[in-house]
Amino acid sequence: MLRIEGLTTSYGPVRALQDVSFTAERGKVTAVLGANGAGKTTLLRTISGLVRPDSGSVHLGEHDISRTPAEAMPALGLAHVPEGRGVITELTIAENLHLGGLGRGRKVTPGDLDRVYDLFPVLGERREARAHTLSGGERQMLVVGRALMAEPSLLLLDEPSLGLAQRITAQIFALLRDLVAEEGLTVLLVEQNARSALSLADHGVVLNLGRVVADDRAEVLAGDDQLRHAYLGF
Ligand code: ATP
Repeated sequence: MLRIEGLTTSYGPVRALQDVSFTAERGKVTAVLGANGAGKTTLLRTISGLVRPDSGSVHLGEHDISRTPAEAMPALGLAHVPEGRGVITELTIAENLHLGGLGRGRKVTPGDLDRVYDLFPVLGERREARAHTLSGGERQMLVVGRALMAEPSLLLLDEPSLGLAQRITAQIFALLRDLVAEEGLTVLLVEQNARSALSLADHGVVLNLGRVVADDRAEVLAGDDQLRHAYLGF
């Protein structure tokens, strides 16, 4: 589904990714793990065309998207939810969801909205409320819901658990699990909270200083004491 080969990305003299290769399979959750500065956010930004790689390639299905601009990505089925929950707080929940269809040039239908409200009932109950009234966890649900409005086949999620209580993170991860199972969505999940991420993910890739240091099934990574202590912090 998503195939990364030899990806190297720099910010001026700073090399953020170095020869990164891995595959994220269709209908699976792949976690990208690693400490601060490991290159996780840069990886997502490079995949979604916000940053240009120095070398290497990114394939989404049959398409080489290595040099495709970010604006063209939604039409190819890629949705990127950046860190920081960018909901528009002055707009209602329903209005925020409508915006999600724009990137793909499609009109969001009542059926689309109902799908999100089924998935996240709390958003349905508050659909006409302005987004500033939502809690952190609810805003995170809204940005995921908004990304789904573009009907992506690949969802890139950057630190969806940031600042959320463990219980809320678990709830959001359980919903993601359902989504992947029901819709065959492919998810690339960046997380600092490696323990939670590996409980959700099928597969994991561990980065350290821009390089891949491990790439394996989630339960293999979670069971590797040395790796956990050295890179995963649990
Ligand atoms: P975090 O969890 O802190 O976001 P990360 O694993 O996502 O970390 P990146 O943000 O991708 O890591 O950063 C990788 C490296 O690139 C770091 O050394 C960082 O300082 C550097 N870097 C990131 N963004 C920029 C930028 N805009 N300009 C210069 N250097 C940058």
